[in-house]
Amino acid sequence: MTKLNIPFFDYPDVFKQFEEEFVDTLRSVGRRGAFIMQSDLETFESKLAEFAGVNYAIGVANATDALELLLMADGIKDGDEVIMSAHTMIATASAVRMLGGVPVPVDMADDRNIDTSKIEASITSKTKYIMPTHLNGRIADMQKIVSIARENNLQIVEDSAQSLGARYHGQHGGSFGLGGCISFYPAKVLGCLGDGGAVLTNDEKIYAKIMSLRDHGRSNFGVYESWGRNSRLDNLQAAFLNVQFKRYPHVIERRRAIAAMYGEILSEVHEIGLPPLPDEDHGRFDIFQNFEITASNRDALVAHLREDGIGTLNQWGGLGLNHIRSLGMGKPLEKTDQFFRECTMLPLNFSITNDQIHYVCRSIKRFYGVS
Ligand SMILES: *Cc1c(COP(=O)(O)O)cnc(C)c1O
Repeated sequence: MTKLNIPFFDYPDVFKQFEEEFVDTLRSVGRRGAFIMQSDLETFESKLAEFAGVNYAIGVANATDALELLLMADGIKDGDEVIMSAHTMIATASAVRMLGGVPVPVDMADDRNIDTSKIEASITSKTKYIMPTHLNGRIADMQKIVSIARENNLQIVEDSAQSLGARYHGQHGGSFGLGGCISFYPAKVLGCLGDGGAVLTNDEKIYAKIMSLRDHGRSNFGVYESWGRNSRLDNLQAAFLNVQFKRYPHVIERRRAIAAMYGEILSEVHEIGLPPLPDEDHGRFDIFQNFEITASNRDALVAHLREDGIGTLNQWGGLGLNHIRSLGMGKPLEKTDQFFRECTMLPLNFSITNDQIHYVCRSIKRFYGVS
């Protein structure tokens, strides 16, 4: 077998796939001097809102800012507790903490999202928000979360950084509560050439507030309405995103096809725990930001794959929020603790070919002695 080289994510390929159009775009934006809050950004925001099935999309500097801006716009206060999955990025928690709130990690479920049966036990008199992460491109169990939020008078802010285009009974992330965030970090499903993010919301007041907050608290007419900050999505990044967005539905289809291939081949390997596969559940449309497996003898498997030239990644550097003791979030959570001993992610991106996927699967089968 010839050895291949399959990086977990091919960063140069983000550029190369659209090289000609990106260079033309840079020339167009540069010659127009259209750098900050120009037509390319407006075009992108309206296309994004339409695609994401929400009334408003606001381009901001990154998804972490998007989460902070949503909480700020709603008026989060010192000491407000925010319930979130332990299996999420530090950004979900830091957005809360940087505004004086308290992140409260809750155990995860088998589908990698928050275990909704464990939310109620974490609610106290200080709880104000539930912040579900739609992890790996799969919407959390929002029917349950919406009903818990209603009963307990809590607001919902969605970390939908990984789930642009994912649906739950037809409904998109960002539309279940106050709003959600999207990340355009290069390795995200819709990644730009640097940092970028967006807020999605159906709420007109939140929209107006964030439009002003992201631009120093100014209104369209330059009136200072409140204190604010600078968190604008560069017009150049928006212009690059407009180029890539045309292909986005096709990208999602390809990612789902890759997930189905991995799922079908690896279902023969009993040492591997698979994520929910496409069309396994008719209420869900998952976009597979990641293909996150569990594997017995994980570290040895990862080393074996590396020998075969295959890159993997243990999400969040291999730590759930509840494992970050240095930030005061340390506590045992049974499912999350077990999961992080066994989990890793296989390469799944637009650059990878079917032959490469077969190569990855053959390597895994060889490791476990499955023919
Ligand atoms: C990537 C990511 C973020 C942060 O996005 P940035 O644009 O890098 O700020 C937040 N939450 C989750 C779940 C993510 O995957």
